[in-house]
Amino acid sequence: MNTNDFFSPKSVAVVGASREEGKVGHAVVAALKNGGFPGQILPVNPKASEVLGLPCAPSLKALKETPDLVVIVVPAKAVPAVMRECADLKVRSAIVLSAGFKEVGPEGRDLEQSVLQIARAAGIRFLGPNCLGAISPGNRLNASFGGDLPSPGGLAYISQSGALLTAILDLAKTREIGFSRLVSIGNKADLNEVDFLRTLGDDPETTVIAGYLESISDGPAFMREAERISDEKPILLMKSGGTASGSKAASSHTGSLAGDEVAYDCVFERAGVVRCQSIEHQFELAQIFLHQPLPGTGPDGKVRTVVITNAGGPGIMATDAVERQGLAFATLAEATVRTLKAALPPASNVQNPIDVLGDALVDRYEIALKAALADPGVDAIVILLTPQAMTDAFATAEAIVRISKKARKKPIVASFLGGRRVADGLAVLRLGGIPTYDSPESAVGALHALGDYARWRARPQRVVRLFSVNRRKVETILDRHLRAGLTQVGEADAKEILEAYGFRTPKDALATTADQAAEVASQLGFPVVLKIASPDIVHKSDSGGVKVGLADPESVRDAFDLMMVRIPKKIPEARLQGVLVQEMCQGGLEVILGMNRDPQFGPLMMFGMGGILVEVLKDVAFHLAPLTAAEAREMLEATKTYRLLTGVRGREGVDLDAVAEGLQRLSQLVTEFPSIQELDINPYVVGPPGTRSMALDARIRISARAP
Ligand code: ADP
Ligand code: MG
Repeated sequence: MNTNDFFSPKSVAVVGASREEGKVGHAVVAALKNGGFPGQILPVNPKASEVLGLPCAPSLKALKETPDLVVIVVPAKAVPAVMRECADLKVRSAIVLSAGFKEVGPEGRDLEQSVLQIARAAGIRFLGPNCLGAISPGNRLNASFGGDLPSPGGLAYISQSGALLTAILDLAKTREIGFSRLVSIGNKADLNEVDFLRTLGDDPETTVIAGYLESISDGPAFMREAERISDEKPILLMKSGGTASGSKAASSHTGSLAGDEVAYDCVFERAGVVRCQSIEHQFELAQIFLHQPLPGTGPDGKVRTVVITNAGGPGIMATDAVERQGLAFATLAEATVRTLKAALPPASNVQNPIDVLGDALVDRYEIALKAALADPGVDAIVILLTPQAMTDAFATAEAIVRISKKARKKPIVASFLGGRRVADGLAVLRLGGIPTYDSPESAVGALHALGDYARWRARPQRVVRLFSVNRRKVETILDRHLRAGLTQVGEADAKEILEAYGFRTPKDALATTADQAAEVASQLGFPVVLKIASPDIVHKSDSGGVKVGLADPESVRDAFDLMMVRIPKKIPEARLQGVLVQEMCQGGLEVILGMNRDPQFGPLMMFGMGGILVEVLKDVAFHLAPLTAAEAREMLEATKTYRLLTGVRGREGVDLDAVAEGLQRLSQLVTEFPSIQELDINPYVVGPPGTRSMALDARIRISARAP
């Protein structure tokens, strides 16, 4: 699909053009005209002969030729008729600015559908309805009611909110940020974010894509396109609002912890998309992504950062931020230190942070910056300045810009602290493509985001290991459940499923009387665990349905009787099948391995601290399936539990590879069986290397309908 008609049309008709100032139909014609659109502007209005000095046609049909783009500004009810006229004229592209569609309720939704049907039948692609329009400064096209044409530049913006776009246009002016294209997708009845991502990805004028989204129309297509494009140009997204995710109905730990935000974070991480928290944040990042090169890293993958400052305090702030945000504090080479020592006054600090002292003029900043750029152990540079008595912010800024233009190999960011006395310096930096920040922290934050993206770009090829498993067995069990209309897979069946995928589970057997329980226990060997077996009890411990450490037949009988008395009192409606007598597993660490299937993005794997307190501790990490070995390891490392896993205070560490492999096997299971909606192995008990891990409890929810 080609969106060129939206950004570089030769002629634009405005249906609903108005002579009345203050009306959208007026604002659009004015925007096109004032923006200096070089093509034909064709106002259409049966009641006017001219609008803003341009001759007005009574109808689309009355135009002599078919316009490349038709902007529709008539009231919602009249839009289907206009779309039909477009069809008759063989128009290819339209923008429906009119509101009063899906966003106002069922009636509007029907209207939107009818517009869509007309357009689809005629092969017309359209933007909106309920949008602000499309803008392309390089082509002097302003087909919107968002105000003046912004200046041209490398940033493309896709916004689901028209109002937000007006704020962005306004803010961009104060930040010297120029745009390649801006598009407001509104209700996205036809064209959506993926269509524009795709074309902006291929647009040579666009070097960075930013956007604001409330929903994603096609999850898999979004992931595919975003990942493809991120390999060439960064995508900076703000995302608000939730998915249609079924997390409210969750019956597993994983399901209840995997909210919408988690899904988006996982998707963005996989696709290399940089997530922004606010417009401010997005602009902070846009500045660095637009103008600075990607940083290299040290052997540990961290961006080695140097701080140049004329004041101690801000230097410490930046140093703290470097450590906190996971960048590395660069160690200067001996040659660099020698150069600095020779050229700077004796009181200067010639180690990182390089302190050029309060009375520094331009020359000292120049010396320090050049030395840092030349040092092979430095990947990125943060320049701080406070307006002290002698400081010349303007000249210093000019020097930084001049030097950076020549170097262009390492990212440079600046934070000039102050107000009026640094304002002219800031302006020079912005115009010169040096990103500027209100605080040392946000300067370092921007470097951090750039470094993360560089690391994503350099990621190794994803290789997903396939284990040899007993797929048929799982198929049989799941089919049996689905045919019977069951959505919860009981513990016994869940264990068989896991065994088929290579997990080890404790030996156990069902008992329906106290004596039988005692007998099974004697066969298994003491101590044993008793667990209530009921399709209606999901969290067994909550209702007193788990008893561990039963050491003799007598305690097994007692525990059995107690459960049979207590549980029906607590949950009268629960159907009791008996009690599971289980081999007791001793030692090891309890973790949770889980999955929740997102309706849009597919299976989200979870790892975390296990046991019955999962929801309280919330020490969990998520990742989209299918998992590679490296991704499984990253999930472990992302939790606090990781410290426990590797061993603390004399406690031996556990078999990390076994845990990672468990996650990978589970990821294969849920990828191969889309009917599995939620799955928990909790606890998964892991011991030191050499011991085998065990799935002590499992819960699986299935559904026949593909998500
Ligand atoms: P639920 O999660 O439904 O409450 P579990 O089967 O997970 O029930 O049991 C609760 C807790 O009891 C587990 O987190 C674990 O600490 C302990 N436990 C369960 N089964 C065993 C077992 N076979 N060996 C040792 N401990 C067990
Ligand atoms: Mg459990």
